Amino acid sequence: MSRVEFDSIGDWNARAPLLIIGAGAAGLCAALAAKEAGIEAVVIERDAVPSGSTALSAGLVPAAGTRFQRAKGVADSADQLAADIQRKAYGEAPAALVETIVRGSAPVIEWLTERHAFPFELIENFNYPGHSALRMHGLPSRTGRELIDRLRNAAELSGIVLLTGCIAQTLFAEKDGRLRGIEIVQGDGSRERIGCDALILACNGYGGNPALVRRFIPEMADALYFGHPGNRGDAVLWGERLGAELACLGAYQGHGSVATPHNILITWAVIMEGGFQVNAQSRRFCDETCGYSEQAAQVLCQPGGTAWDVFDARIAGIARQFEDFEAAERAGAMLIADSVDELAGKMRLPADTFAEEWHDVETLKARGALDRYGRRFSAEQELRPPFFAVKVTGALFHSQGGLVIDTTGRVKRKDGSLFPNLFAAGGAAVGISGTSAAGYLSGNGLLTATVLGRVVGQAASALASH
Ligand SMILES: Cc1cc2nc3c(=O)[nH]c(=O)nc-3n(C[C@H](O)[C@H](O)[C@H](O)COP(=O)(O)OP(=O)(O)OC[C@H]3O[C@@H](n4cnc5c(N)ncnc54)[C@H](O)[C@@H]3O)c2cc1C
Repeated sequence: MSRVEFDSIGDWNARAPLLIIGAGAAGLCAALAAKEAGIEAVVIERDAVPSGSTALSAGLVPAAGTRFQRAKGVADSADQLAADIQRKAYGEAPAALVETIVRGSAPVIEWLTERHAFPFELIENFNYPGHSALRMHGLPSRTGRELIDRLRNAAELSGIVLLTGCIAQTLFAEKDGRLRGIEIVQGDGSRERIGCDALILACNGYGGNPALVRRFIPEMADALYFGHPGNRGDAVLWGERLGAELACLGAYQGHGSVATPHNILITWAVIMEGGFQVNAQSRRFCDETCGYSEQAAQVLCQPGGTAWDVFDARIAGIARQFEDFEAAERAGAMLIADSVDELAGKMRLPADTFAEEWHDVETLKARGALDRYGRRFSAEQELRPPFFAVKVTGALFHSQGGLVIDTTGRVKRKDGSLFPNLFAAGGAAVGISGTSAAGYLSGNGLLTATVLGRVVGQAASALASH
């Protein structure tokens, strides 16, 4: 139960100059940045081993103007990334925050590469919807597990204190909003109070709290939640009690391609490279290339709340760079056939309608034409046998609403003034994806977690005592 107590500040069991709640990408980037600034941060994490939604992700971070892009001749810039973010967010993303984030994107990738030996690579063989340049940077396994393990390792090598298996429950604040410390509950039920000079909330959003999802994102109330269950909306609940400004609470990152009943993410590369989706009546139902986030609700609206991703062996070859895709193959989620008819039979879909849709798509590809939904197909993406299909559903990945912050990550009150020593980053803060699922440009999650994590780590350190 997340609580705030005002002016009931008692004895502390311990003190830390800087406390960080949550050891995901945001919290660990903040701790590493603080360490560089000479501040010993203490990170509080409810899990025994840090994982968070960061571990569940593909670990792909967009960044503009990196040396990895230059080495491959990719022209890109912070301004271009900002324009892509705003185009996807219908111009609703806070401009100053976007500016900070895009300018910090290449430096954060190069910081993790150079200072902490992260072996980032540019993803070159497919692109995500809405990105006007190849700019996704991933680790060799293409997993968020590798990203979080490398962050934890870097934190441990730097001597950062991670208090794991502890849930932050109560914040202690003065009437003026100055945070004085927190109470944590440890695995054995014992409680400790830790005082601090500054506090960073890096405990992500409310996707793991069904009551908050029902309250703020009713369209996804009954959807599969695919993020970390420990993200229970504490930042929002504390923020409400402190009088913080909260925004974009109905916005979220969804995904329209989670293999069902296996519950394994199927990369959107299968669609972007020329695949498409049909429903249980063999019918296509929208332009799939608008984005995987808004596609979650589209898929959930189809009969049975499911759809089929349809693609071919070439595309499967690209998708196999993701461990999840290989896991889905091992789990028997893929149907494979040598003809369109045989594939329809395996999917148990109306064969005539399926063949009609297939023919339509392939004809549009040959002509490089727009379909009835506005999707443009390309001749290079003709599907050739063997053909693949996987049954998918829509899922909620994480909430995008949260605490409103300034460009240093400092949390704002409802009247626009700043809390003296309270910061938020990653999914705890409001995102840069506007007010709906459709505003999410792929990569916005880890982009904000890593860049803002570093920014708040630096800014909060300036308030903490050495
Ligand atoms: C399946 C999936 C795939 C995704 N793929 C991508 C991708 O490829 N690229 C991308 O940019 N984004 C992706 N995202 C989004 C991305 O994972 C998140 O935006 C990002 O990881 C958020 O980082 P964070 O540090 O804010 O939160 P998290 O990584 O979730 O960390 C928050 C931590 O806080 C801890 N915590 C919460 N409350 C408390 C408390 N009271 N006390 C102590 N600890 C607490 C949690 O246990 C957790 O470890 C994906 C998300 C999902 C679910």
